[in-house]
Amino acid sequence: MFQSLSDRLSGVFDKLTKRGALTESDVAEAMREVRRSLIEADVALDVVRDFTDRVRAKAIGQEVLRSVTPGHMVVKIVNDELIRTLGSEAAPIDLHASPPVAILMAGLQGSGKTTTTAKIAWRLTNRDKKKVLMASLDTRRPAAQEQLRVLGEQTGVATLPIVAGQGPLQIAKRAMEAARLGGYDVVILDTAGRTTLDEELMTEVAEVRDATQPHEILLVLDSLTGQDAVNTAKAFDSRLGITGTVLTRADGDGRGGAALSMRAVTGKPIKLLGTGEKWDALEDFDPERVAGRILGMGDIVGLVEKAAQTIDVEKAKSIAQKMKKGEFDLEDLSEQLKQMEKIGGMGGVLGMLPGMGKMKAQLNAANLDDSIVKRQRAIISSMTPKERRHPKVLDAKRKRRIAAGSGTRVEDVNKLVKMHRQMADMMRAMGKNKGMMARMFGM
Ligand code: GDP
Repeated sequence: MFQSLSDRLSGVFDKLTKRGALTESDVAEAMREVRRSLIEADVALDVVRDFTDRVRAKAIGQEVLRSVTPGHMVVKIVNDELIRTLGSEAAPIDLHASPPVAILMAGLQGSGKTTTTAKIAWRLTNRDKKKVLMASLDTRRPAAQEQLRVLGEQTGVATLPIVAGQGPLQIAKRAMEAARLGGYDVVILDTAGRTTLDEELMTEVAEVRDATQPHEILLVLDSLTGQDAVNTAKAFDSRLGITGTVLTRADGDGRGGAALSMRAVTGKPIKLLGTGEKWDALEDFDPERVAGRILGMGDIVGLVEKAAQTIDVEKAKSIAQKMKKGEFDLEDLSEQLKQMEKIGGMGGVLGMLPGMGKMKAQLNAANLDDSIVKRQRAIISSMTPKERRHPKVLDAKRKRRIAAGSGTRVEDVNKLVKMHRQMADMMRAMGKNKGMMARMFGM
């Protein structure tokens, strides 16, 4: 979501950190560029103004300009102010109330409300071991209740049985009652959405709120809609008093303006990010991490956590050892690709590594997506052990055999061999960055 902003800012800061000394006018010039980048990312103007004023005030002080690395000090100030703009601290869903705790989901139609309801329910069930009941209060869209029922079946979460003819308020009361009787910890109420804001929608949600006293009122917003999402949030909050927002489609190419303005404009925390269509594509919104991503410093923490959950540590260690010795062969590449697929594909991994944002763009340009990763693994598995260990032996005849065996073309085999060579080089270079390798592979 923050790719182009991130690219632009890293351009500004590259220039700044390369200089030994900085003058006030250097900082002012950099701030003008930061300002332009933020406006281009569709951040609300007030937020941009506030942000750059705060950074400028801190950065122009004598301590910064006279310090040994003034450029880095400025980047640090920008980082801290970004975190502050994003809300300072992560604000997870709060379930500290006597059960059944009601979570009211609100939002415009198509924002991703129902999907998010299922994602939250799935996570609370599987990660937090809560007993969750979902109920759709959408009696307008004929298929809405059925959609949630199906999602419930797929995620293994209970849904309130559908009773034809009931209105939203009746359904909400029935859900709370069923949750009490059934000993549920959490009830998630998925309200109806409209394509535009209207008074009727607000009244309906307000009535449900009053009847169920939800502990959380989460507003689901499509981050691709930028400033419209911010305006929607303002309207919902002033009418309903939301407790937080969820930004969906953070995996899309939104410019990031919604995320950056949301907290400052509404005063309510962004609690979660939707990052895809699957159940597990839901992330806690952590301002520190998001700021790190925006500044292109990479999300080391996120990668390490995710890797720890999925990576086979022993295998990773032995690959890391080989990499150190410059012995990274095709067998290792195949293993590496498999691990990458588990973590969420090439794009997912590279996007989280510092300085890899640009490389990711190149890979995308080279069309190296995850289906290609699968094909590459097929090619490697059609090779003999010797070929995997010593790709140099691959002559035209062997390549033809491998291509035939994996249902690919010789051209694809060539591309893979070339990629392996480039990766081996890259990894050797990365190997020099001890700290990162140590954290990634537990070396
Ligand atoms: P609702 O009308 O607000 O309930 O919207 P839905 O939950 O039905 O979602 C509308 C579409 O958006 C569906 O196709 C979802 O799969 C998709 N969607 C929801 N959240 C995300 C997300 O975080 N990322 C992506 N890429 N798609 C999403």
